[in-house]
Amino acid sequence: MHVRCSYCFHSFNLGRDYIAAALPEALAQKHKTHLMECPNCRKRIKIPVTQMKRFAPPPVAEAPGTDEPPSQGEDAS
Ligand SMILES: [Zn+2]
Repeated sequence: MHVRCSYCFHSFNLGRDYIAAALPEALAQKHKTHLMECPNCRKRIKIPVTQMKRFAPPPVAEAPGTDEPPSQGEDAS
């Protein structure tokens, strides 16, 4: 996820692992924004939680749509 610091305009990429770790915390505390330190100027920049949601890996708690046919593309002739 691409992030740009609003203070020094340093742009950097936020890893999926970071988002996956930070997003549940932000949601648990009902934050609208996640605060993180800019790696360049060390100021706190705000990242919208909604934006993080879009980049976070989908939860793997449940498996929706497992109604696929058991046999696929194999000829049993
Ligand atoms: Zn900065």
